[in-house]
Amino acid sequence: MPSVIDIQKYSIHDGDGIRTSIFFKGCPLRCAWCHNPESQQKKPELLWNREKCTGCGWCAEICPQKTIIMEHGVPLLDRERCTGCGNCVIECLESARSLSGEYKTVRQLLEAGEKDQIFYEESGGGVTLSGGEVMAIQPFEEIVELCRGFFEKGISVFIDTSGFAPWERFDSILPYVTAFLYDIKAMDPETHKKWVGVDNKLILDNLRKLSAAGGDIRLRLPLISGINDSREQIEAVLKLLQGGIHVRKIHLLPYHDIGKNKYARLGREYNEAALAPPTPEHLEELAEILRQTGVPVVMGG
Ligand code: SF4
Ligand code: SF4
Repeated sequence: MPSVIDIQKYSIHDGDGIRTSIFFKGCPLRCAWCHNPESQQKKPELLWNREKCTGCGWCAEICPQKTIIMEHGVPLLDRERCTGCGNCVIECLESARSLSGEYKTVRQLLEAGEKDQIFYEESGGGVTLSGGEVMAIQPFEEIVELCRGFFEKGISVFIDTSGFAPWERFDSILPYVTAFLYDIKAMDPETHKKWVGVDNKLILDNLRKLSAAGGDIRLRLPLISGINDSREQIEAVLKLLQGGIHVRKIHLLPYHDIGKNKYARLGREYNEAALAPPTPEHLEELAEILRQTGVPVVMGG
C-alpha cells in the first residue's frame, strides 16, 4: 500500500489547469536541495518542532518503544526504533510533534482525486502524482492501477518524476498518462552523483525512450547557483534536445529554501551554505540558450 505525505487540492503549479496533487513517500534520490525531505523515506516519519516544545517529557513517558529520552529538557528520538505509531503526536499537548506519511489504498486515492472532477473539466486540469518518487513506489502495480482508474474516469494524469526507475514502469503507465513533468538535475554525471546521490545515465536513457514512445514531456530544470547552472550544463541540455528528444515545454526552477525548516524537524543536516538561486540575469541567459530549441521556456512550475 503506498504511503502519502499530502493530497493537495486546487494546485496550479503541478501541470495544466487546476489539479489535485498526490505526494507519495519514498525516493531513491537524495538531492541536496530537496524541499520535501519528509518524502524521502518510505516509512512514516516523526517531525518535532523545537519552537513549540516545552520540554515536558510526556512523550518520553508514553512512547511504547521507549525511543525518546530527555536530555537537558530536549526529547531526543532514536529514529531507527520509532515505529511511527503516532502516540506521541496525539499525546503532545503543544502539538510539537507531527507524523508524515499515511498508508492509502488505491480506492482511497481514486476517491480523493475524483472529488474535484468538475474543476478539472472546467480548467483542463486533473491529477498529478508527485513525491517523493512515484515511479519508485512498491508494488508498482498499484500505481498502474491508480493511473488506469483515473484514465477510465476521463481524468488527466500527470506524473512528476526524476526519471530514476526501470523503463518497464514508464512503459506500463504510458497509455494512461497525459504528461510527464520530467526533471534533469544535472547533465554532468559526476555533478549529478555528488549532489543527487546517483548517476544520471538511467534518467537520460528513460528520457530518450519516453520521447521515442511519444510521451508528452515537460522538462523541468532545478537550477542551483554554482552547482548545475553553468552555461556548459545548459548547453549540454540543448545538445540533448537537439539530438531528437521532443519536449512540450521547458521549466526553469530556480532554487528556493522553502523546505529548509523541515530538516531540523526531522533531525537532519541541511547544507544551506552551498545552496543559492542563480541571479535573474543569469537565469535569462540560460533561458536564451534553451530558446534555441524552439520550445517555450518558462520560469517556475
Ligand atoms: S514534544 Fe510535546 S510531549 Fe514531548 S517534550 Fe515536547 S512538548 Fe512535551
Ligand atoms: S511515533 Fe510512536 S514509537 Fe515513535 S516516538 Fe512517537 S510514540 Fe514512540
